[in-house]
Amino acid sequence: MTEAFCILIHYHEIALKGKNRSWFERRLMKNIKRQLNGLPFTKVQLNAARIFCFGVDETKWNDYAQRLRKVMGIKHSILMTQVKGDIDIIQAVAAAQLKDLEFLSFRVSARRQYKDFHLSSQDINIIVGKHLQSIYLKPVKLKKADVDVVIELVKGMAYIGHERIHGFGGLPIKTSEQAVSMISSGIDSPVSSFEMLKRGVELTYVHFHSAPATSRQSIQNVEEILTVLAGYQIQCRVYMVPLLEIQQKIMAEAPNKLWVILFRRAMIKLASMIAEELDIPALISGESVGQVASQTLSNIRATADAADRPILRPLAGLNKEDIVRIAEKIGTYEISIEPYDDCCSFFVPIHPETKANLEVVRQTETNIDFGIMFDTALKNASIKTIEHPDYIKKLVPSLEKVSD
Ligand code: ATP
Ligand code: MG
Repeated sequence: MTEAFCILIHYHEIALKGKNRSWFERRLMKNIKRQLNGLPFTKVQLNAARIFCFGVDETKWNDYAQRLRKVMGIKHSILMTQVKGDIDIIQAVAAAQLKDLEFLSFRVSARRQYKDFHLSSQDINIIVGKHLQSIYLKPVKLKKADVDVVIELVKGMAYIGHERIHGFGGLPIKTSEQAVSMISSGIDSPVSSFEMLKRGVELTYVHFHSAPATSRQSIQNVEEILTVLAGYQIQCRVYMVPLLEIQQKIMAEAPNKLWVILFRRAMIKLASMIAEELDIPALISGESVGQVASQTLSNIRATADAADRPILRPLAGLNKEDIVRIAEKIGTYEISIEPYDDCCSFFVPIHPETKANLEVVRQTETNIDFGIMFDTALKNASIKTIEHPDYIKKLVPSLEKVSD
């Protein structure tokens, strides 16, 4: 019996798309190819709303799994053994796959993509199920079985597998345009960025720092966080913008109650300028309503007023514990809790405004003569491209070829 291996990939939300579904599918396949670049595979093919990745090396399944988890739009991926569409072979392979597994219950989920196979999906479920039961003496459980043996029949071939890894669902990156994400080294903004990546938005990041008044730790932490987030889009760009001069001007000329709001407005204005230059339609921030003094609705209004485009706040309605859970899941939490002095927390007054009056804020800001400080800050920004270590060029010399 000759066996080959492939990976079967299911998507979810794309299935709800109408006329433009194939555009989403093509993007997803492109993203999968980019993500798997450097690992062996021969082709990625769409078949009846599933994606098959052929010619894979099953001994590297963990590497594939780790990469595929980072492709937004995927519901789950399963390593499959590919054999001739013959029921005896199918049940032998299914039995062999369960040999070293510990399980108390199982189920078989067969799907037939070509109807000339002489057995229906239900027949296959029953035949293979009985065979497995006779060998392992374990019950079939249709809901929450320990093992789900997936069998797909496509064009004369059968695919059998049970090792499934879950993706994050959502939409493939680059199907939802771009946004500039304002990222600190705190817990929230890495999560807000992740949530938008999940919706298919390609991100460019901006981080504001107060060096040399603060240590460069926040910059390093942000770079480390972005190394994790870069994995979802393979590489990303970050603008590291010096804010100190603008902050000092604000501190010299505005009442300290308004400092944080004016710092935020400066950040939003600078982020908007970058977005304008890059022709990017939206900004992203990690605010969560009421979480801290600067995130009351009045203060959000007073800061958002400085933007010339929508600011998306994917965490607006989330509780802190939910945000922490996501940060842990995506691997940014440990980095975020490392000590750093953030450009805002460093200069926070004892009694910051919690219910800012927009008119007062506007007037105070108008009275400050910033001159060319904003242009200077952007001119002095350093722009870095950050790549996930899995994709460093020497490992993936042909990255450019599949990049777009
Ligand atoms: P985070 O955990 O993301 O730092 P936070 O709870 O500390 O958020 P704030 O300090 O009020 O909240 O910041 C609100 C949002 O403003 C952040 O989520 C982020 O999007 C943006 N922001 C704050 N500080 C910076 C910074 N230094 N550079 C870029 N964006 C920032
Ligand atoms: Mg913060």
